[in-house]
Amino acid sequence: MSTHLIKPLVGQIYPMIDYGKGIYLYGMDGTRYIDGSSGAVTANIGHGVSEINDAMFRQAEKAAFVYRSHFTSEPAEKLAEKLAHSAPGDLNSVFFVNSGSEATETALKVAIQYYQEQGRREKIRILSRRTSYHGITLGSLSMSGHPLRRQRFEPLLEDFPAVAPPYCYQCPFKLSFPACGLKCADDLEEAILSIGSENIAAFIAEPVIGASGGAITPPDEYFPRIKEICERYDILFIADEVMTGMGRTGKMFAVNHWGIVPDMIATGKGMSAGYTPMAATIVSDRIMNVIENGTKVIMSGHTFSANPLSAAVCLAVMDYMDNNKLIENAEKQGRYLLSKLEMLKERFPIAGDVRGKGLLCGIELVKDNGTKEPFPLNDKVTETLITICFANGLIIYPAVAGVTGYSGDAVIIAPPLTITETQIDELFAILERSFEQLVQRLEQ
Ligand code: PLP
Repeated sequence: MSTHLIKPLVGQIYPMIDYGKGIYLYGMDGTRYIDGSSGAVTANIGHGVSEINDAMFRQAEKAAFVYRSHFTSEPAEKLAEKLAHSAPGDLNSVFFVNSGSEATETALKVAIQYYQEQGRREKIRILSRRTSYHGITLGSLSMSGHPLRRQRFEPLLEDFPAVAPPYCYQCPFKLSFPACGLKCADDLEEAILSIGSENIAAFIAEPVIGASGGAITPPDEYFPRIKEICERYDILFIADEVMTGMGRTGKMFAVNHWGIVPDMIATGKGMSAGYTPMAATIVSDRIMNVIENGTKVIMSGHTFSANPLSAAVCLAVMDYMDNNKLIENAEKQGRYLLSKLEMLKERFPIAGDVRGKGLLCGIELVKDNGTKEPFPLNDKVTETLITICFANGLIIYPAVAGVTGYSGDAVIIAPPLTITETQIDELFAILERSFEQLVQRLEQ
């Protein structure tokens, strides 16, 4: 219809959505889709939840927007309190933004500010990992090991160093766990020693690597070791939980799986479950004490930060999650989904690795799971699988980073946390059929 809206792929025709209910989306032409990836791993409570619409309406009638430098609001205060209570350790202060990119970029700025307030002006670099995605703004992209998204902007990006990811299936060191002794964690320490800890403000990492790798899940020993290294060298640890947070992996935050407390958590996506744009940077007392005793101002912020309408929506989403025990369901159904996905490996040699935590699952596609040989990027295998699934009424999410970070093909399966076992069977039947069609296509 509209030719004025710039589409992700310009010139491509996209189906037009009519409405959504639960895990299903319905196009204007009546086609039904299973939202097997919660959109971009966002629609955590499913579509068309009337409790959220009611909360949105009630708040819109009162005050949809006030500027945060003029007023605070009850929803924003309550949401911050609820998030602080849900976050581990001394992560007690919340800074609201509107997207995951802004949440990680705020963390970057707060980390630098934390040291500057203490007169340590040399600490201006952020370490990250080679297979990672932290957002699309220039600061967050500078921290991202996602070559495909970086390539056009390289000259504008900060020269932030990156270390090896805990990517056991295709280990960057060609080792295997546990004999490797976690060389990927050692890599962080080596980088710190060569750059000098006096130059580094923070290390940022996704607990489970999402968009650049397809739910790459580290060994349980990895993050405790990372945290210990960061502490030893006085470097802040930022957990990017934009995708993994808010119950997606079967815990409120994925770091809870390993009992570690980051210095900051960036979260977004599932926070509002897609009902409105909203994200947050959750900051520790250690950092806030320094800022409070210093300039008192976090040197960032956006017009819509902490707007009451979005805050009311997020509160309603969190209540809905509590009332329906969705985090527990993510843990339980996640195990079931993973066991089903494992079956793909037996039937299809192209199903290389199956991995994940809770309802954040990934499948890595390879030429043959015996050799683990990746497909050439130009074969566009991920794209083909996604297109086939879409035509069969199943939406899944791509996770391809590009040529030098991680060169493989992978998809994310991450349905709403409301999904039932029967619905997983339905999702899996379509996925299995789509794999059959993909194999036929590749043989042509
Ligand atoms: N961080 C992670 C881990 C993400 O997965 C994403 C988005 O996929 C972002 C940051 C950026 O979030 P947004 O797209 O809301 O800016």
